[in-house]
Amino acid sequence: MANPNQEIKFTKLFIKNEFVDAVSKKTFPVSNPANEKLVANVAEGDKADVDLAVVAARNAFCRGSVWRNTDPTARGTLLNKLAALVERDSDIIANLIVLENGKTFANAKVEISRFAQILKFYAGFVDKYYGKTIPVDGPIFTYTRKEAIGVVGAILPWNFPVIMLAYKLAPAIAAGCTIIVKAAEQTPLSALYIAALSKEVGFPDGVINVINGFGPTVGHAIVSHLDIRKVAFTGSTDVGRLIMKTAADSNIKKVSLELGGKSPLVIFEDVDIDEAAMVAHNAIFMNHGQVCFAASRHYVHEKIYDEFVKRSAALASMRKVGDPFDADTDQGPQIDEESMKKILHFVDLGKEQGAKLETGGKRIGTEGYFMEPTVFSNVTDDMSIATHEIFGPVQCIIKFKTVDEVIESANRTNYGLMAGVMTKNIDTALTFANAVEAGTVWVNCYSAGAVAAPFGGYKESGIGRELGEEGLSLYLETKTVAIKLPYKN
Ligand code: NAD
Repeated sequence: MANPNQEIKFTKLFIKNEFVDAVSKKTFPVSNPANEKLVANVAEGDKADVDLAVVAARNAFCRGSVWRNTDPTARGTLLNKLAALVERDSDIIANLIVLENGKTFANAKVEISRFAQILKFYAGFVDKYYGKTIPVDGPIFTYTRKEAIGVVGAILPWNFPVIMLAYKLAPAIAAGCTIIVKAAEQTPLSALYIAALSKEVGFPDGVINVINGFGPTVGHAIVSHLDIRKVAFTGSTDVGRLIMKTAADSNIKKVSLELGGKSPLVIFEDVDIDEAAMVAHNAIFMNHGQVCFAASRHYVHEKIYDEFVKRSAALASMRKVGDPFDADTDQGPQIDEESMKKILHFVDLGKEQGAKLETGGKRIGTEGYFMEPTVFSNVTDDMSIATHEIFGPVQCIIKFKTVDEVIESANRTNYGLMAGVMTKNIDTALTFANAVEAGTVWVNCYSAGAVAAPFGGYKESGIGRELGEEGLSLYLETKTVAIKLPYKN
């Protein structure tokens, strides 16, 4: 049940299956974006704490350790049990997510079911990644084996604190790695609760560790650590760039990056306008616009443009913004003041640069970071609102005439995370799907992601693919073994 007074049980660092204070004894405040009040003071890790966690994770991974001797199917059982406990405590975890993040309770529950799905998917993969035997010249028997990469670091964003944890934790554990997680500084509480459940499930000491704190301290310590073999990062493109540099300068650790986006959704003239307007509405306003793959550029064919704009503005103005614990609420607050100010700044730029504000554009109230759902029409490709990731509830509607023109516009960005196209014409849909530079293309829908399907970006939206089989391969090394035989056979 939704409960704004949820007790906060876990606020410390989690190392070797124990909750401990930071070496420095420092803490940092986590506040509720709906009312700006303190939710909890949380242990603030730093390099010294990361060093301790890495020792624990390295020992857990060393030859002969309990973890290394754990059978693959037993790793799968642990993942399934963790999924079950997270489902058992889904109300508690959802309350924590609402308190730290401000998303609605209903959406927080969706996060939890997704977490469980991802864990169950990878639990089934533990004995299904295979090496190969390779026909080579000479009397040499050659085969490959897939091996866990070792100690890995996971650095998470705040927008989907629990799903993003699953994207990294589940394949890492399925592969047999040990892990150090750093949740975003805004949303450390749900990750700590799940860490506590991992102990209840029976993960050996040191397999899962959580060190919360800030990017330049904990994050940097993880990325630069010489005993961490891989870092999985989700966050902004600017920080992703830094992560690549730091990984290269330390020990060339492997990196996978899920970064920002400015994803296009293209709507042709032959669609059902009501359906298209609803798909487009959800594609930008879900999670208050704080979604890396949000469709933040809506290209609409000139023949239906005016009608589409009218319906989009009507949908946005009907959206109920308010208390995220309230079952009627569609949209809670933005994550923090900085983010809200950034959104308001882009609204000003949109108006200054000649876009037409159809609805919204203002902060709601003076307590909490609530934004009006905002719709701009008459947007053009060169405007700041069409080129920058706003990360807020701002729909930008751009007019187009031809398939070729809209493909060029869709690709005129350094990002390449997702794209959508709506049309009844299969030729048009496939022409667009093949030409657009994006990691995923949705046709006549948006946000139809599946755990089994790879997720990630072209261009500056990232490196590597999470989820699906490809998501597991991020945590595996391939070793070739060549054995000389007495004779060729
Ligand atoms: P952010 O880049 O500011 O922070 C992400 C994480 O990186 C946080 O844990 C932060 O503490 C850490 N960090 C910051 N500086 C660091 C440093 N120097 N070294 C190591 N770690 C550091 O991003 P955010 O504001 O939390 O999230 C919003 C961004 O994330 C948006 O750009 C969004 O598009 C992106 N995102 C992408 C995906 C995806 O899958 N592609 C998913 C969710 C969010």
